[in-house]
Amino acid sequence: MPITPDQQAEIDALRAQTRPTLRAVSEGMEAHLYKAREVLDHGFVRVIDYMGDDAAICQAARVSYGKGTKSVQNDEGLIRYLMRHWHSTPFEMCEIKLHVKLPVFVARQWIRHRTANVNEYSARYSILDREFYIPRAEDLAAQSVVNNQGRGEALTGEEAERVLRYLKDDAGRAYDHYEEMISDEGQQGLARELARMNLPANIYTQWYWKVDLHNLFHFLRLRADKHAQYEIRVYADAICEMVKDWVPAAYGAFEDYRMGGATLSGKALDCLRKMLAGEEVTQETSGMSKGEWREFMGVVEG
Ligand SMILES: Cc1cc2nc3c(=O)[nH]c(=O)nc-3n(C[C@H](O)[C@H](O)[C@H](O)COP(=O)(O)OP(=O)(O)OC[C@H]3O[C@@H](n4cnc5c(N)ncnc54)[C@H](O)[C@@H]3O)c2cc1C
Repeated sequence: MPITPDQQAEIDALRAQTRPTLRAVSEGMEAHLYKAREVLDHGFVRVIDYMGDDAAICQAARVSYGKGTKSVQNDEGLIRYLMRHWHSTPFEMCEIKLHVKLPVFVARQWIRHRTANVNEYSARYSILDREFYIPRAEDLAAQSVVNNQGRGEALTGEEAERVLRYLKDDAGRAYDHYEEMISDEGQQGLARELARMNLPANIYTQWYWKVDLHNLFHFLRLRADKHAQYEIRVYADAICEMVKDWVPAAYGAFEDYRMGGATLSGKALDCLRKMLAGEEVTQETSGMSKGEWREFMGVVEG
């Protein structure tokens, strides 16, 4: 269960307390504040706090004394200009603090993003819950035959059933032994910091994760991408939904220039110009490797 009734009551109590503020408020983000958005079978992501809004980006870019914003179109144009020209520091003026519950193997990928502040649930101090990520049948994919870092079709039949059984049984057995080892009934009880090494990478952990908008966009660019592993992509997708409501203009620019856009090498640009001029260009005449050419054609043909 991602959120227990007691936890939900705490969230509701927090949302019931309101007070006036002089700070910038994003109405879209206020609607998300504290609420848990469920991800995978036991995970979630929720906003604990945030700073700034679209106007704060313009305010910083203009180094203003007052609000620093002009008309909506003017501000949106400025934000798009900043995004287009990699003038990134105004985006760093906005921050977000998230509470994330995620499997350990997803956390290992996530933690590689070093430009955030993290505080993780302590499995030295506390006992981890018996909660493991078990993929849905349709997410139980075979190894891709074309990409060593990717997946192919979903497993079927007896193989799918066996794999699911292994995942559940192995996790359950490892947790039984974890519980038995830390128990102090009739024995000394192994330290939690040692007993946890027996647990599999699909057990859930939790952390608070704080990051500025510029670095969050970098994270989302990599992890909401179709090449990212499904299990981290669903978290990135959930965060995208929140960011879209928090800073709609900045998110719109990010979606257009970063998620929807593409970077072309000098050779690729040269080929594109030749193609537009009606010249025939092939991989052999392009000067690009087969992989580069395949990716380039993917961009050109969509
Ligand atoms: C599809 C995919 C596959 C991947 N496969 C692997 C893999 O097989 N093995 C593996 O180990 N990793 C892998 N990674 C992780 C990847 O190499 C990066 O570590 C991760 O995406 C974090 O990116 P980052 O360093 O740009 O982010 P952040 O750590 O958030 O850094 C943001 C930016 O800050 C700068 N920066 C931060 N710290 C430093 C520093 N110490 N020195 C210099 N500049 C810094 C860099 O410009 C960096 O781009 C993969 C990532 C993806 C998306």
